[in-house]
Amino acid sequence: MQLICSPLTPEIAVLKLYWVSSGRMQPFIHYFLHFVFPGLVAYTCYRKNWRNVYLILVLTMLVDLDHLLARPVFDPCRCSINFHPLHSYQAIGVYFILLIFPKTRIIALGLLLHMATDALDCLF
Ligand SMILES: [Zn+2]
Repeated sequence: MQLICSPLTPEIAVLKLYWVSSGRMQPFIHYFLHFVFPGLVAYTCYRKNWRNVYLILVLTMLVDLDHLLARPVFDPCRCSINFHPLHSYQAIGVYFILLIFPKTRIIALGLLLHMATDALDCLF
């Protein structure tokens, strides 16, 4: 089994040291970005129907179903970005294209927020 972890550059080492020394901050920030931040975006950008927009943004978490294709399904050292099919660079490119169309814009926004959150995890 191949472990895919971030290379330990000096910058990453400092960030990682800070991250680890801050205890449980990584999961807190991860779940904040996955669940609370989309609510802030929905409330700020789509105030009229922010609840529906928030629901759509949270439902884009279903993109993580592609993790079920991996063995093992969960690996804390694995970076999701460009490993799982729906987290690939090609898929992310499609999500950017979907931003163009009003009917798919909110879904694309949710998917890109999700990818940004997952990419942040790849630093650690
Ligand atoms: Zn993900």
